[in-house]
Amino acid sequence: MSSSNAVDYKSLGLRVGLEIHVQLNTRRKLFCPCPTRLASSHSAELHRQLRPARSEVGEVDPATLLEWSKRKPYRYLVPREESCLVEADEEPPHQLDRESLLVALAIAKALRMRIVDEIHVMRKIVIDGSNVSGFQRTALIALNGYIEVEGRKIGVQTLCLEEDAARKVEETDAEVVYMLDRLGIPLVEIATSPDIDSPELALKVALKIGQLVRLTGKAKWGLGSIRQDINVSIAGGAKTETKGIQHLYMIPLVIEYEIKRQLELLKIRDELKARGLSPESIKPAIIDVTEVFKNTSSKIIRRALEKGGVVSALVLPGFKGLLARSIQPNRRFGTELSDYAKAWSGVGGIFHTDELPGYGISEVEVAKLYNATGADPSRDAIVIVADDKDRVEKALLAVAERAAYATIGVPEETRAANPDCTTKYMRPRPGAARMYPETDIPPVLVTRDLLEEASKYISEHPDVKYRRLVEKHKLSKELASALLNDLMLDFYEYLAEKYCEKIPCSVIASILVNTIPMLRREGVPVDNLSEDVIEEVVRLLAEGVVAKEAIPDILAYLAKNPGVSVVDAVNALGIRRLSVEELDALIASIIEKTRSKLLERPEKAFSIVMGEVMKTARGSVDGKLVAERVKYKLKELLNIN
Ligand SMILES: [Zn+2]
Repeated sequence: MSSSNAVDYKSLGLRVGLEIHVQLNTRRKLFCPCPTRLASSHSAELHRQLRPARSEVGEVDPATLLEWSKRKPYRYLVPREESCLVEADEEPPHQLDRESLLVALAIAKALRMRIVDEIHVMRKIVIDGSNVSGFQRTALIALNGYIEVEGRKIGVQTLCLEEDAARKVEETDAEVVYMLDRLGIPLVEIATSPDIDSPELALKVALKIGQLVRLTGKAKWGLGSIRQDINVSIAGGAKTETKGIQHLYMIPLVIEYEIKRQLELLKIRDELKARGLSPESIKPAIIDVTEVFKNTSSKIIRRALEKGGVVSALVLPGFKGLLARSIQPNRRFGTELSDYAKAWSGVGGIFHTDELPGYGISEVEVAKLYNATGADPSRDAIVIVADDKDRVEKALLAVAERAAYATIGVPEETRAANPDCTTKYMRPRPGAARMYPETDIPPVLVTRDLLEEASKYISEHPDVKYRRLVEKHKLSKELASALLNDLMLDFYEYLAEKYCEKIPCSVIASILVNTIPMLRREGVPVDNLSEDVIEEVVRLLAEGVVAKEAIPDILAYLAKNPGVSVVDAVNALGIRRLSVEELDALIASIIEKTRSKLLERPEKAFSIVMGEVMKTARGSVDGKLVAERVKYKLKELLNIN
């Protein structure tokens, strides 16, 4: 942002740290010999139910408690080839995969990190069922390095090698279903220091780290192969962690929206303080108001009552008007309260008086509600929930706790990214000390031999690469620098090697660093384009089936219609490349139609015919070839030069 009213992130005390996870494309998984690919079917199922365990110090982790309070059973789909007894937790893990370790060491070296002398595999408690054993195995490989981005040194705190979690395929009210294929795929997890002080810099750092991992030649490509968590805090706010950001390009907006959220929450706190409120002002008193709604026309409440549920209310004294305050696009402070209710009790949501009357709830009912609770309609807000009694109670207690914290400030929490880059409450930040040694796997000594072997995964220096791109691949300086800053640099090198004899490297480079970003700016969902699809387009281009001019249209069509084959897209768009014979026939017919006009103004003949041909054939023919054939045909048919 360069405009004069841009947010001054420095004065806000913005601190951002990234945690980047990249899947490795190794021959086997981290702790067993299964292949690192996803399965399309399964041959068996497993069932498990998680129970909270007390830690050594006798406390139940709050995040664990939240998951347990949902008490959903887990069902695991077991693919025949992509999992074995290790994923099912029926056999101890095997030795740490050597190839994954070498790649991790190479990345650590490239990030100028201090590599540990001895690698210990640890167990990290996971609470959402995404690992059958109830913990994820992780190993610290290196610490304290840095990466240079735009002349700035951004600290890299840790690099870990860990196993990916099982893939969630379904979540219903009754159960959570996971597929075991992804469980155990090696991941490198790289955590930066909170040195990043603007949303744009965060994106650049993420791109650079992602590229560095991909240049080992051992990173997986495609959607979900790079995932990031973002820590954000501002002065006076709190550190929050947003999980599950699948697209790098979401990073700047997620950060901007989180800053906005924290600023708005601080304003709400100041307002609450000005109204004389403290955490003690919010009493967790739950009042049954079922009677008020016995003849309601609210469908949601009627449905809950028909099932034998109740309607209960919680008074938020002095909160009137604040629940309607916007804190992120399409999200209000009331939405935050609602998220807590949903996360802690499983209810569908809450109603609050700042949005009532509405949703079938009448003005009369709102008046009765104030009456029944003894709240002050000019000053207080009331939250109501309709569901079974137990859930309603849990939901309103969670709302009371969150509302009380609003008088203090921004709570530290783990949040989940929504597709529009806003975020929602997921769970409290997990307590520390969730790691235990994995006694089934002996420690690995990092020897000189191991480090030397790792060197083969280290990519050449960027300056050397740049010279090669300009001198050998004949790329312009602009294209070469753009590629060096692009996540798809490794993919470019793969394509260039395979297709450079048939098409210029600059055409391939331009598709990756010009066409795709241009389509992204136009709002085309280019993340739907897998590397396989892009390669197929390049292949058809190399074989002369499509013209280079048609590439943007083909890619846009494929992005908007995921699953459609490239050949089908080309047919649907009617942009198969014309053969020279077809082109000649088209030119001849145009000359025939415009013959008298051409003979009248022979000096304009070329541009008239050229214009007409391009009007019909743009995208399916190369402009240079058209010019050549038009000149030839004009001479042949009209004797015009
Ligand atoms: Zn396995």
